[in-house]
Amino acid sequence: MADTATAEPQLRPLVPHLTLGATRDEDYLNGAKCKNCNAVYAGPRMYCGKCSSAGPFESIKLSNTGKVHVWTIIHQATPYVKAPYIAAVVDLDGGGSVNTNIVGIEPTPENMSFDMKVKMFTEKVSEDREGNSYVAYKFTPA
Ligand SMILES: [Zn+2]
Repeated sequence: MADTATAEPQLRPLVPHLTLGATRDEDYLNGAKCKNCNAVYAGPRMYCGKCSSAGPFESIKLSNTGKVHVWTIIHQATPYVKAPYIAAVVDLDGGGSVNTNIVGIEPTPENMSFDMKVKMFTEKVSEDREGNSYVAYKFTPA
C-alpha cells in the first residue's frame, strides 16, 4: 500500500524577503546590494534601479531598525482585515525600504510622524489548510 503520510506542517515566511531563523528573534529581512553602485534593495533583484546595471548583486542581511519614510491610516480594508491600521514605507538603517504595518500604537495621526524610529518584529499571522504557518514582519515604535 502506498505511503499516505503527509508532509510535516512547515513554518513559512509570508514574503520572500523575510528569512526565518530558528526562533522569531533570529528572523531577518534579506536584501540585495548592487556591487556596481552599492544601492541596497529588499529582496532579490535582477536589475539595479539606480545604475541600471544587471548587478552583480550580493545577498545581504538588512537591518531590523529604520525610520518611517511615509505613512497613511487605512480605514477601509478588504474583508477579514481589521481596520483602521497604519500602512507605511520604512527606510531601513543601512539601506533598503519595505512596505509594512506599524503596530503597537493606536492608529491615529497624533501617534505618527515622518522619520520616527521603528524596529521590526515577526509573528505568525495565518495558517493554511495543510497546517503550515505563515510568519510576517511588522514594525513598532523603537
Ligand atoms: Zn547599481
